[in-house]
Amino acid sequence: MTRSTDSQRRVVLSALAAGGLLALTGCAATVRRVQPRRIVVVGGGYGGATAARYAALWGGGGVDVTLVERDPAFVSCPLSNLVLAGSRTIADVTVGYERLARRGVRVVHDTAVAVDPERRRVRLARGADVPYDRLILSPGIDFFFERVRGLDTDAVRGLFPHAWRAGPQTVALRRQIEAMRDGGVFAISIPRAPYRCPPAPYERACQVAWYFKRAKPRSKVLILDGNEDVQSKKALFMQAWSEDYQGIVEYRPDCVLTDVDPATRTARFETADDVTADVLNVIPPHGAGAIARSAGVITVNDQWCEVDFLTFESMKIPGIHVLGDAIQVAPLMPKSGHMANQHGKVAAAAVLAALAGRPVNPAPVLNNACYSFINDREAAHIASVHRYDAAQKTFLSVPGARGLSAAKSELEGDYGFAWARAIWKDMLG
Ligand SMILES: Cc1cc2nc3c(=O)[nH]c(=O)nc-3n(C[C@H](O)[C@H](O)[C@H](O)COP(=O)(O)OP(=O)(O)OC[C@H]3O[C@@H](n4cnc5c(N)ncnc54)[C@H](O)[C@@H]3O)c2cc1C
Repeated sequence: MTRSTDSQRRVVLSALAAGGLLALTGCAATVRRVQPRRIVVVGGGYGGATAARYAALWGGGGVDVTLVERDPAFVSCPLSNLVLAGSRTIADVTVGYERLARRGVRVVHDTAVAVDPERRRVRLARGADVPYDRLILSPGIDFFFERVRGLDTDAVRGLFPHAWRAGPQTVALRRQIEAMRDGGVFAISIPRAPYRCPPAPYERACQVAWYFKRAKPRSKVLILDGNEDVQSKKALFMQAWSEDYQGIVEYRPDCVLTDVDPATRTARFETADDVTADVLNVIPPHGAGAIARSAGVITVNDQWCEVDFLTFESMKIPGIHVLGDAIQVAPLMPKSGHMANQHGKVAAAAVLAALAGRPVNPAPVLNNACYSFINDREAAHIASVHRYDAAQKTFLSVPGARGLSAAKSELEGDYGFAWARAIWKDMLG
């Protein structure tokens, strides 16, 4: 073998060893560079930005990674409840995509409006067609407004901001809370589980109560829960409502919202009494983001997407992987930003393995930590570890690995802010 074919062989072997995508044609001495394989990610939130970043990092020059994100900057839901209370601003929870773009990800700010799984293309709102070899969808959630009578126009929806996607909705709800008279009522309506981030509505109640205690002490926070009980960190929240926010927060279970009346700001329920509020924060029932519907990957209750938990590939449409809040979760797996970040890494590795014809990791392990702020500085966390179970083909919560703070503290609050900074850096570079 000549010097040049030797060096060619070294190139090939090192590329294959690195999981790269050079291909051999004919005899072993011939090298042909192939086009990088195309990975398209729709949704640059906790799941999608992570998947895009790690696909580019681990795939190197063998892949071409495009992230399609409709918003100009990432706005975090975690910590956004503190914006409602006024101790943080929307700028504090906003991070640009510039660093991600410098780390090998092509960031396209547009809305994906359709997916053609046969031709493996994504149609964008401005008309472009983006081809892919593997597609990753992490579109978060969209709302079933039609399931609440009265929420039928944009004008009415504007009166009752959900703020369950952070951004302009968060700012609008903060304005309503600030403008509310002292002695008024802020009511939050929680949909039936599973919904995005189980503890977040109760954290929101604490945050609004913290603001009222300082700025409008005669005001009330009413929690109208569509579930039969508090869904997360129950003891911690109950303690906060009865001690820190005594006389301010009232919790009502079994309040399944059916109607809103914009003229009187009245909420009506399946069985509970009507409630009239000065600020009515309606979190409508929700499911996987709309693009998942176009891709045909929604499989459960017309709401969530089932995936193969080893790869996050859709159970229905090959070549499309789904992450984050959009999926039908495994038992005890929360719909959280931290969990979506973990999905993103498993999916990125699985997509690269599929493109290189390598086996996937047969035993992925995920972890989750979720901090809830009780006031502007003190928080508490819940943590869990989830291991893939080959027999049951799902993730199971690892016994003994769950953790829950005994009480809120400033130290936990510091950890909560550090968690946010660390995860934003991890996903956005
Ligand atoms: C008030 C609140 C507090 C929370 N607190 C915590 C917490 O403390 N810890 C925690 O871990 N989780 C928390 N969560 C949950 C967390 O925000 C979600 O679980 C997480 O955002 C899910 O990630 P995702 O990637 O699925 O969706 P998202 O992060 O919502 O990302 C979806 C992205 O897709 C984009 N997109 C959607 N459709 C399209 C399209 N067709 N074309 C282009 N772009 C599109 C959106 O613009 C968005 O950027 C909280 C949620 C709320 C509402």
